[in-house]
Amino acid sequence: MRAVQLQSIGHITLTTLPDPIPGPDEILIRVEAAGLCGTDRHLFHGEFPCKPPVILGHEFSGRVVAGGLAEGTRVTCDPNIWCGTCSQCRRGRVNLCEHNIAIGLHRDGGFADYAVLPVHRAHILPEDLSPLHGAFCEPLACTLHGLDLGAPRPGERVAVLGGGVIGLLAVQLARAAGAEVMLVTRQKAKRDLGLAVGAHLTAAHLDEVLALWPQGADLVLECAGVAGTVEGAPRITRTGGRIVILGVLPKGQKLQIEPFDLLFREIRLIPSFLNPFTHARATAMIASGALRLDPLISRVIGLHEAADAIAHPPRPGEVKVIVQP
Ligand SMILES: [Zn+2]
Ligand SMILES: [Zn+2]
Repeated sequence: MRAVQLQSIGHITLTTLPDPIPGPDEILIRVEAAGLCGTDRHLFHGEFPCKPPVILGHEFSGRVVAGGLAEGTRVTCDPNIWCGTCSQCRRGRVNLCEHNIAIGLHRDGGFADYAVLPVHRAHILPEDLSPLHGAFCEPLACTLHGLDLGAPRPGERVAVLGGGVIGLLAVQLARAAGAEVMLVTRQKAKRDLGLAVGAHLTAAHLDEVLALWPQGADLVLECAGVAGTVEGAPRITRTGGRIVILGVLPKGQKLQIEPFDLLFREIRLIPSFLNPFTHARATAMIASGALRLDPLISRVIGLHEAADAIAHPPRPGEVKVIVQP
C-alpha cells in the first residue's frame, strides 16, 4: 500500500509498504479521509515526541476491511490507546496516561491506503455521512474536552482566540451552549468564516475585544497556540472568569503571566489535553450533522501531496486540509 511515512525528524516521504495485517482484537480499515493537523507539522520538526519511522495521521476514518466488525462498516478512530493500568488511568485520568500509545505518532496512522486499529478504538459512523466528515471526530473530541472544562452557560460571553479548526469548532460548540460568542483572529478570511459558522461577533485583536466587551469574557478559549494570545488572555477575561488553553505551544516555550492579577480577580487558567471519553460524543455530533464542517475544509489532497503539505507551513487562511487516499 501507499503510505506517508516520517522516516526521521525533518524527513517525510510517500512510500510503498506491505498492507498491514490486523492482530487479535484489531481491525483493518480502508482509509476514506485523514485530517492534516498542526501536530503533524510539529512531529515533522521534532517539536512533539513520536517514534519514527512511523506513518503519520491521527485524525482519520474509513471502512472496515477485516477484523472484528462487519466488512464495510464506516468507523472513526480514537487514536489514543490508554494503558488502563497506570496510576492516572486507574484514577480515570486516561488522557494523562503514563504509557499512552497514540496512533499516527507512536504506531502507524492514517495517511495510507489502509490502517490498523484496536477494535475498541473504533466508533461507528453512519453510512450516509460525507466521507470527509469522519476526519473531524478527533479534533472535535479534543475541543469537546476543552468545552467540558470551560463549561460555558447560556447567556455567558465566550471569546475564542484563534480561527483554526479547533477555534471554529469551539465557536460552534459555545454557540450551541447558548453563549454569546466572539471569534478573535487577525485573519479577515477566518473572521468571516467564524461569522458564517455561528460567531455573533468578531475582533482582530484584544483591544478590539475590550472595546466591544469592556468587562471581558466569562470564558476565554485559547485555540491559537501562540504565546501572545495566552499572555493576553487574562486581559480580556472578566473578573471571576476562566481561561481554557487548547492551543499547543512548542515544548520549552515560556511566557509572562501575572499571578497577582489572576489571584485578585480569581481567574482560573485551565489546560485541556486530548480527548478523555469525548470521542463517542464527538462521533454522535458529527453523525447528527449538527456542525458546519464543509466550510472548514480548505483543501482535499491525495496521498502524493501529503508529505509536501506536512513539510510546509499552512497556506494563508487555511483551516483544514484533508487527505483522501
Ligand atoms: Zn490533531
Ligand atoms: Zn495508563
